[in-house]
Amino acid sequence: MASVESRQSVAIVGTGMAGLITAWIIRNDSRASKKTLSLDSASLTVSNLAGDKQRVDLPMRAFASGFYDNLKRMYDYFGIEYGKQKFIFPFSTVENETEPGRRPKIHTSFIHSSHTHQFPPLRPQGSTWLTWLTEALYLGICYLWIVSCSIFIKPIEANSSRPSETFRQYAARIRLPQYFVKNYYLPIMSAVTTCPHNALLDFPAIDIVDYQAKTFGKPHYTVIGGVSKVQDKLSKGLNVHYSSAAIRVENVGAKVQLTWKNDITGSTGSKLFDHVIMAVTPDVVRAIFPPLRSALAVIPTSTVPAYVHRDFDRLPKCNQVVNGGIRSEPGLPSPERIHLCSNSSSTEFTHEHLSSVIITTSPILPIDPSKIEHTVFFTRTLRTPLSQKVTKEIFDPKTSSDFGDSKQWRNGDGNIWLVGSWCWDGMVLLEGCIASALRVAEELDIEVPWAL
Ligand SMILES: Cc1cc2nc3c(=O)[nH]c(=O)nc-3n(C[C@H](O)[C@H](O)[C@H](O)COP(=O)(O)OP(=O)(O)OC[C@H]3O[C@@H](n4cnc5c(N)ncnc54)[C@H](O)[C@@H]3O)c2cc1C
Repeated sequence: MASVESRQSVAIVGTGMAGLITAWIIRNDSRASKKTLSLDSASLTVSNLAGDKQRVDLPMRAFASGFYDNLKRMYDYFGIEYGKQKFIFPFSTVENETEPGRRPKIHTSFIHSSHTHQFPPLRPQGSTWLTWLTEALYLGICYLWIVSCSIFIKPIEANSSRPSETFRQYAARIRLPQYFVKNYYLPIMSAVTTCPHNALLDFPAIDIVDYQAKTFGKPHYTVIGGVSKVQDKLSKGLNVHYSSAAIRVENVGAKVQLTWKNDITGSTGSKLFDHVIMAVTPDVVRAIFPPLRSALAVIPTSTVPAYVHRDFDRLPKCNQVVNGGIRSEPGLPSPERIHLCSNSSSTEFTHEHLSSVIITTSPILPIDPSKIEHTVFFTRTLRTPLSQKVTKEIFDPKTSSDFGDSKQWRNGDGNIWLVGSWCWDGMVLLEGCIASALRVAEELDIEVPWAL
């Protein structure tokens, strides 16, 4: 938890990207729970094969032009260096996962390079020239189709009689082939959303279509040296209460009372502020802020496990092809490999970090426990047409409330605010953190130096 002393007192609950950027904005108004900050708390430093130390960001927090305009402008303002990052994505499926006692057979069907930077694509081991060429041609056509649709065929929006179109319905409407959806599109999009395939099919189609259209052909970037650089810039001078978890936020008269519990001593404390900004996931908001307890019940969250390990034996065999065929450009970091390995319901992501460790997120196959060096669990907020509707009602003053309660709480009521990657009508990514922080700044009439 961070508090910002200024002419008005403001407490911010949560020190992820949204909490830190909001704290920075408020503290630098020109007119006026953890042992560490959490933005970088899951990341770690490892030695690479040459013995040099390298920072491994957990989660990766890559971003792309087109979608992350506010994030890029903020990084540029702070002089945070970021660089283009290419990726190689081998797509594999587990073929006999359910047969007890047998080692699962992994079949790699295609090796995609981000923005087709590697052309022609690498041919997976065991794939004949004919199957490889047919697969490449088929994927090229399907991909061009979904990109064209994302630009020209808009998803159906919600109205008073029906919810917004889901991606499942949109894919059927544009006749996107099932084989492509199941084996390629859901795996790659679930790398962006880290959720099982069925949950992704239930996302509002507009989220995926909008992300697809905005990022098509645009490069990916990562922060050079890791997001600790961002954390350092944003947190300078903040008064942070480490190891304190907010347990209740409530209005007391014209003020807002924040009550917290110290994780180490177990003691509780509370203080009155002019404003409290909650920069936490919706499940936490429900627990600490009673007025949203029932409304936020429709916003699903899931726990996403990530393992940093050195179990190289579980990497698919296609790696021999990738190792031999990968092309690096002078002056740019080598392309990073992210293996997408799917079963019938979900995809695991195995990122071979250049530092020599492997990060497996949402594993569907076992990892040798003796080779695991670090485990983290993240909370991911998912989207559905219903959660989209509730989010709009809370954050968009123009949307009429349908909760049947005219006193439905809206962002800013009683000087209590919400920011975070889920606090906007779009994909739950870092851009949502900045967009929601900027909205609070605007409402509080605070000028943000990098905002347009
Ligand atoms: C595996 C994975 C990979 C991802 N990759 C990307 C990516 O490449 N690009 C991208 O844009 N996004 C990515 N995301 C999404 C992105 O990282 C998150 O959406 C974003 O970091 C959320 O930031 P936030 O500040 O809204 O919330 P959080 O980061 O969740 O921060 C909230 C913080 O509040 C703290 N907290 C919780 N309860 C309390 C309490 N009671 N009191 C005080 N503090 C509390 C928590 O410790 C937490 O750290 C990824 C997410 C995951 C899980």
